[in-house]
Amino acid sequence: MAKVVKTAISPTREQDYPEWYQQVIKASDLAERSVVRGCMVIKPWGYALWENIVNSLDGMFKETGVKNAYFPLFIPLSFLEKEAEHVEGFAKECAVVTHHRLEKGPEGGLVPAGPLTEPLIVRPTSETIIGDSFARWVNSYRDLPLLINQWANVVRWEMRTRMFLRTSEFLWQEGHTAHATAQEAMERTQLMLDIYAKLAEDYLAMPVVRGRKTPLERFPGAVDTLCIEALMQDRKALQAGTSHFLGQNFSKASGIRFQNAEEKEEFAWTTSWGASTRLIGGVIMTHGDDDGIIMPPRVASAHVVLLPIFKNPEERTKVMEFTANLSKELTDQFYDHKKIRVEIDDRDIGGARGWEWIKKGVPVRVEIGPRDIAGNSVFVGRRDLGIREKKSMPRDRFVAEITLMLDEIQKNLFSRARIYLKENTHTIDDSKTFYDYFTPKSKEPSEIHGGFSYSHWCGSGDCETKIKNDLSVTIRCIPLTDENGDNGSCICCGNKSTQRVVFAKAY
Ligand SMILES: [Zn+2]
Repeated sequence: MAKVVKTAISPTREQDYPEWYQQVIKASDLAERSVVRGCMVIKPWGYALWENIVNSLDGMFKETGVKNAYFPLFIPLSFLEKEAEHVEGFAKECAVVTHHRLEKGPEGGLVPAGPLTEPLIVRPTSETIIGDSFARWVNSYRDLPLLINQWANVVRWEMRTRMFLRTSEFLWQEGHTAHATAQEAMERTQLMLDIYAKLAEDYLAMPVVRGRKTPLERFPGAVDTLCIEALMQDRKALQAGTSHFLGQNFSKASGIRFQNAEEKEEFAWTTSWGASTRLIGGVIMTHGDDDGIIMPPRVASAHVVLLPIFKNPEERTKVMEFTANLSKELTDQFYDHKKIRVEIDDRDIGGARGWEWIKKGVPVRVEIGPRDIAGNSVFVGRRDLGIREKKSMPRDRFVAEITLMLDEIQKNLFSRARIYLKENTHTIDDSKTFYDYFTPKSKEPSEIHGGFSYSHWCGSGDCETKIKNDLSVTIRCIPLTDENGDNGSCICCGNKSTQRVVFAKAY
């Protein structure tokens, strides 16, 4: 008989991946559903992860000259209407404010009153309201480039929501820049994509494919949309960041004009780029296992948890003193240019305590009991390794090697994810194999199948739509590397194609 191994998360990934995802969020104490439809409450352990992502990205933005600012939550309806494709793209998801007061109604309850002459949209994205400011800030070529970012919440009224991946309100950053030339704006679009890829790979340990969206998948109103796409453990793609070259579409809509060096008036070239709390969903689905989330050290809410073990007040005094000293020596050290983040959990709740921290995905757990103290050692468990693989280490060696250990965990997570991506990426050139690849073998909705398929595409929107309708598979991106630029025939219609694109099912 096979030995049944108890896991902290039920169901397991293999049993029901979507439900596993929800249970991990709950068990790891990252977030919870709100009473408000489609919205979530991000709890402290989840918010700390977000803050570390924010700080990492913010630092990289600022190194390229970007400055932060803040713009209104509300956008006048007329602003959104200025760019035709843009308003059409977002119209179905807009929350609209139509009144500004509450009054006692005929039934006694409060009812909205004071209708607004012009309704206000709760921002789904801010190109138009920021464009309005840019039009005032930009007059001469000397005012350019203008490089602005805001950290904000946005609202997109989604019908089907899933925590972190798709919520009606979410946190993000949106960068907006204006430039004197198309070339410079395109370079900025690429530069910001590179930063997103760096965040994903170097910080979140999540390998990505960089590419360009097809016209059908482009941001509404953009000339070109670049993106990074990651592969989750259920072999679905996650779009993890996008960077848009907006041409002069939005500068014409908002009137962002400048006098060039020859004193001629021109419209500016603009970009926008964003990444959101969806990245946390990416971390869960890239590294999580059947015992919970595994946090990559560079963004982990805490690096180390210290778990003192004692049976009586006398032991408690000794163990707590040892723990406090160890904590101080750890927090005095730097990992990734930041002080090591240590939690001490001295709650007297027995074995449940260790499991809680496993589920929460803290990279390193350290148990400290009277016997460890007697031997001047600590009992260490790494979250990226099997949870039963714990070992005793001399205390001083642990302190000396902690940064190395965190580094190893970070690298291990990335290398595992890269192997997974490679194993589930295929080059498919014949239509039957392609259809088989993306068709589940059973009726179980949770069956894991598919992956990334590099296949030829003729460039036609009809072929793209047919595949989407047949298989729920979309073109995630046209890869930016030249490696796939050989000649072949379209996986759908058989017509001539000059390069392979990445097909996958997606979140
Ligand atoms: Zn075709």
